[in-house]
Amino acid sequence: MSSKLRLIILGAPGSGKGTISSRIVRDFKVSHLSSGDILRKHIREETELGLKVKELVSRGQLVSDDLITKVVLAELGRLSSTSWLLDGFPRTLSQCKALDAKKVPVDRVINLNVPFDVIVNRLKHRWIHPPSGRVYNLEFNPPKSPMRDDVTGEPLIQRSDDREDVVLQRLKIYEKQVKPLVDYYTSKKVLETFTGNTSDFIWPLVKTNLQALKAQKHAAETEEHQLAKIDSTSSSKEPVTHTGHKYAPDDFRRVRFEVAEKKVSPNWGIDLIAQDPVVVCNERIVWSSGGGPLGHPKVFIRLDAPEIHDCGYSGRKFIHKKFYDPSKHGASITYDDYLKEMHKQEFAA
Ligand code: AMP
Repeated sequence: MSSKLRLIILGAPGSGKGTISSRIVRDFKVSHLSSGDILRKHIREETELGLKVKELVSRGQLVSDDLITKVVLAELGRLSSTSWLLDGFPRTLSQCKALDAKKVPVDRVINLNVPFDVIVNRLKHRWIHPPSGRVYNLEFNPPKSPMRDDVTGEPLIQRSDDREDVVLQRLKIYEKQVKPLVDYYTSKKVLETFTGNTSDFIWPLVKTNLQALKAQKHAAETEEHQLAKIDSTSSSKEPVTHTGHKYAPDDFRRVRFEVAEKKVSPNWGIDLIAQDPVVVCNERIVWSSGGGPLGHPKVFIRLDAPEIHDCGYSGRKFIHKKFYDPSKHGASITYDDYLKEMHKQEFAA
């Protein structure tokens, strides 16, 4: 099972968005979809669309929401079975909403936050040799002879849009443009902001975050898969844990899923990882990981009552905050109520 990643990257000009994007592509094997690149390709190839947008793109003005959305959605359609990273799109709230309207899933929005004075400083020291495209930084990577290209000796120039006042102006425009997007994806709880002065500082943070996201998605998918497996085998009443573990009929750990309508949810109010074996045994104990072959008991279940009890010791610290209500500490609730509660918490959201 390989979890797909559907990502969006936001970053001001000069924030290192290109560098971070290429590292994401390299390490997470995602397809990079840059709206600017797509448009530039159309312009180069002089397609109908290219001719239509040429003027706007050369002036750095946004093309219409309808047009860019159509182009990007068409490209995404081709990538629907892979992981992707959207760069340069969406740029407006209406583009965000267009993605939602088409039910395009977004797992994470990576928001790069490099202080503007750092960007201004970096860009104002950037000088280039236009014929070769070689880039120098007067502070960190200066040419061997002042203001001369190392290879040809020709003079270096500063791009007009790297001038301090121009950069600052562009950053201000970006800030205004990105704000509604940041608000929108924050409210959807998919946005993560990564702050730092350099890409080398920011990259490990992004990488760790995406690794965790991938693991989380993988665990959720495994869980779904296992639950589906239980559901599909439930009619046979074959005792099996939610992870698919089977025990011999005389094994005391043999599950007794028959007692419950909904059987054992993998999230019994405990912070279980997907691989945890959870067994409801006829010793009336629910075990999961945390030490020993099956771990510390976290809650125990009385199958004769039936009731669920919080163990009140070692395992308690693993109880998921989301489910743990200190006011109910030590309290027992009936099995049916517990199931209702779990159902409400897990599926009602
Ligand atoms: P970029 O390389 O992302 O800066 O994009 C280059 C140019 O393509 C922009 O200045 C716009 O003219 C156009 N463009 C790219 N993406 C979009 C978008 N999402 N919405 C509108 N115009 C865009």
